[in-house]
Amino acid sequence: MKYGRTFNFSAGPAMMPEPVLEEIAGEVLNYRGSGMSVMEMSHRSKVFQTIVDETEADLRKLMGIPDNYKVLFVQGGGTLQFAMVPMNLMKNGVACYVETGSWSKKAIAEAKKYGEVKVVASSADKNFTYVPDCSDLDIPDNADYVYICENETINGTTYTSLPNTKGKILVSDQSSMFLSKPCNVSDYGLIWAGVQKNVGPAGMAVVIVREDLIRDDLADYVPTYMKYKTHADSGSMYNTPNCWAIYCCGKVFKYLMDMGGLEAMNQRNIEKAQVLYDFLDSSKLFKGTVEKQYRSLMNIPFTTGDKEMDADVVAATKAAGYDNLKGHKSVGALRASTYNAMPKEGVEALVGFLSKYEAEHTK
Ligand SMILES: *Cc1c(COP(=O)(O)O)cnc(C)c1O
Repeated sequence: MKYGRTFNFSAGPAMMPEPVLEEIAGEVLNYRGSGMSVMEMSHRSKVFQTIVDETEADLRKLMGIPDNYKVLFVQGGGTLQFAMVPMNLMKNGVACYVETGSWSKKAIAEAKKYGEVKVVASSADKNFTYVPDCSDLDIPDNADYVYICENETINGTTYTSLPNTKGKILVSDQSSMFLSKPCNVSDYGLIWAGVQKNVGPAGMAVVIVREDLIRDDLADYVPTYMKYKTHADSGSMYNTPNCWAIYCCGKVFKYLMDMGGLEAMNQRNIEKAQVLYDFLDSSKLFKGTVEKQYRSLMNIPFTTGDKEMDADVVAATKAAGYDNLKGHKSVGALRASTYNAMPKEGVEALVGFLSKYEAEHTK
């Protein structure tokens, strides 16, 4: 790779597209004749307002976001949304959650602070290696929403179809799959994504929320910053936003459009992940940990089944220039994250390396 960069398989913060980084590097001392970098400029300046406006407009174009949805740029990463969602959307104080792994568990634990949480389906029985059937969930009439984590970053699972919410609004954490494929926004009441997985630098979430769900009647104790209305009314400029993240995300949105949009990215992501899954399915040493049907295209956990050997593989891959393959201890010892910015050549090279390792360690 150019510049001595490694193929970085980190789950997040993760790789960003090289052409985007080059463009940012070229603008870092003097952004388009403004005499300063985006890190140094007032968020109230005309130059920065243009950046925010274009970033939002490009995201709307890329995803085909309908006019009755607001796009918000909120700080606090992904984790703040675990609280903001129930604080803003629990009207009756009841919500349904689908439990599919680490990130939905965190969302459930946080939501319980604000109301009654009904876990309507779970894959805990098989250590979160699949997505449960969500076609006929037991959803109470007074439920305010149904919540899913659409791609479980640690467990490596993804939905094959959206849950039947029986008329209730669907809320989705898309952090580790955001912009990896086309998305029909009107199927959801609210979509949110921490951007450091598949889009940009850490410290921000994009929230796409249907206008009629933005409430004016929240309890007094809800912090001003944590009301969606605050961000919706101020164009995500109530206080100083994460200017740098907005700018970098804007660059990535333009890059994705240049690449042909989300359908093209989906094709690339399918082909790319297939390279590793095909290898795992024919390997005598390595195996994937997720039921085939529910395999994520973004996060691919796998193992040799032997802890020490897994650790040895992590060390060997790192030495060979493939970084951050150490998986989460709850799942298996290896995980390759293959987000939009990971080139297919990166996965092919990794598979070449793993094949060689396998040949050396099997009879
Ligand atoms: C990383 C991640 C989060 C948490 O994001 P932070 O920005 O670290 O708070 C939430 N959900 C999913 C699916 C994630 O992958």
